Amino acid sequence: MMTKRDRQAGPESAEAQTPLAASLDAARKAAASTAAVLRSRTDCADIRRIGIPRALLYYRYGILWKTFFEQLGREVVISDVSDKDVFDAGERASVDECCLASKLYLGHVQSLEGSCDALFVPSLVNKGHRKGYCTKYQALPDLVANTFPDAGVRIVSLLVNETEEKLDEKSAFIALGQRFGASAADAKKAYRAAHAAQQRADRVAARAQERRIAEIEQSRKHAGERDADGVPYSGEAAPLAILLVAHPYVAHDSFVNGGIVDLLESMGAAVLYADEADHAKALHESFEFSETLPWLVNRELVGSMTLLHEHVDGIVLVSAFPCGPDSMTNDAVARCIQGKPILSLTVDAQSGTAGLETRVESFIDILRYQQRGGYLNG
Ligand code: SF4
Repeated sequence: MMTKRDRQAGPESAEAQTPLAASLDAARKAAASTAAVLRSRTDCADIRRIGIPRALLYYRYGILWKTFFEQLGREVVISDVSDKDVFDAGERASVDECCLASKLYLGHVQSLEGSCDALFVPSLVNKGHRKGYCTKYQALPDLVANTFPDAGVRIVSLLVNETEEKLDEKSAFIALGQRFGASAADAKKAYRAAHAAQQRADRVAARAQERRIAEIEQSRKHAGERDADGVPYSGEAAPLAILLVAHPYVAHDSFVNGGIVDLLESMGAAVLYADEADHAKALHESFEFSETLPWLVNRELVGSMTLLHEHVDGIVLVSAFPCGPDSMTNDAVARCIQGKPILSLTVDAQSGTAGLETRVESFIDILRYQQRGGYLNG
């Protein structure tokens, strides 16, 4: 007979009084919680098209990211190249304190609206001691979620934080792959393929740059000389080799850098990129320059500068306003890297290109003067 308490508690409570009912109840609860765990582990399984903003570290790890999702059978949508409309949208959405590059990132986020099921917005904190990322990269998922709270932006993220959370890139991607419904083995395979693709692309870029340097050296050696047929090897003047030192999303986005690469090339300079040197060598080299510099990407740039220093005529530093890591690093570079003229430029959306052209022209004039044996060689 049901007690008053049983009636008040309902039929389940009555069942729970028998051992069989208790174990059925426990089994039901366990099954429900397992299903919930599995559901949460595969919370991205329904995503078919994933968007990636063409900004910030897309220029450093974009091949890894894109290949990973493609390996999981997803369609990847990359936002278009930057332009004024994209930047204006990002600037309207941003707070004033954001740097130019992160404002632009938000513009790219907005431009992907409606073209994908979710956005990939990783949170990169560090890849070990003294290999940290700018706080902007760390905070991106929060920045995007809080900037577009009403747009229903679905964010897929991962966290790389080796020092505090012991989460390395590989395990973060494998866990992410499982959230997309892949088995642990398939997620691992997808990461391996993606990592290899990024490494391959980095190697190709580094080798191409090494060949470019060899060609420049060769034409320097023969500057003014003629071959057996009387044809000049490289014209009268040796080419000027300029090392462009900037975060990859500045160096390779002509909207951000104000078209500086075209400008330098139009003045007869050969542009080398600090972010295209061998990353491992550059990182290793950076510790010779500073034991304490905290940012990984700045380390790669500084290390590359010391590796390539001997091969270039001048160094152009380009920084997006206002960049904390660059302001500290570039100041140290200007004081410590000796023997090559350095031009330091800060770009922001308001600066336009007229001032940039004037400064680059003057810099090239100085380098040409030096090349002809002017006072800088004295
Ligand atoms: S490193 Fe500088 S430019 Fe890049 S996101 Fe951070 S503050 Fe902005």
